[in-house]
This record gives sequence, structure tokens and C-alpha cells, in this order.
Amino acid sequence: MPEETIFSKIIRQEIDTPLLYQDDLVTAFRDIAPRVDTHILIIPNTLIPTINEVTEEDELALGRMITVAKKLAEQEGIDEDGYRLIINCNKHGGQEVYHIHMHLLGGQPLGPMLSI
Ligand code: 5GP
Repeated sequence: MPEETIFSKIIRQEIDTPLLYQDDLVTAFRDIAPRVDTHILIIPNTLIPTINEVTEEDELALGRMITVAKKLAEQEGIDEDGYRLIINCNKHGGQEVYHIHMHLLGGQPLGPMLSI
């Protein structure tokens, strides 16, 4: 079994992080250290450490992450101007928390896709 991260506690509401959305498959909340005006994390409720461990059984939850991102972008009023969705994987991807999460970033121009 992969080791739980702080995100499992957030899903179970064992720590005080307000949820923006939760259903049987996914949970969304604001990033604790926002890099831009709108910075939301959308995660599967099941612990999948990285994209490398994804299986076909996860497709429903991964698809739900996208539809929830769309709804939250609309709710935040950033859908028309646009936004970026990012999932980092492992060291070169810059992943810090080993529970898959999609960053929903927007609310301001985001600049070039990559800065290396
Ligand atoms: P990564 O670099 O793994 O793609 O992104 C992890 C993100 O999780 C970072 O943007 C970081 O600020 C955020 N984060 C880490 N710990 C917590 C936490 O306890 N609460 C919340 N809301 N965000 C967290």
C-alpha cells in the first residue's frame, strides 16, 4: 500500500481545509501556497501516488477531475479568460506530494508554458 499524504487527511476532513467540491470520486480545495490568483487542487479520493501508477480502473476519477476543473473555473469566473491544468509527475515533473493532483491555475496571464 502506498503511504498516505496530507491529502488523504484533507479528503477525510481530518484537518481544517475548506473543500470547494467533493463527491464519491474526487475532492477539490485551494492550494495552501497559491502561485497565482486562482490556484486550486483537484485530487482523486483514492490514493494514486503518481500518473505512473494509473490504471484503467482510475479512468472515471481522472475524467471527473477534468469536469470538476471546468465547473470550478466557471465558478471562479476564470473560464472565459482561460486557465491552465497541470499534473506533475515525479522528480523531473516537480511533484512534491505523492497523491495525484491536478493544479487549476488562473485569474491572471500565466506566461509561457514552461520555465526551466
Ligand atoms: P506538486 O508540486 O506536488 O505538483 O504540488 C503540491 C502542491 O500541494 C503545492 O502547490 C503545495 O503548495 C500544495 N500543498 C502541500 N501541502 C498542502 C496542504 O497541506 N494543504 C493544501 N491546501 N495544499 C498543500
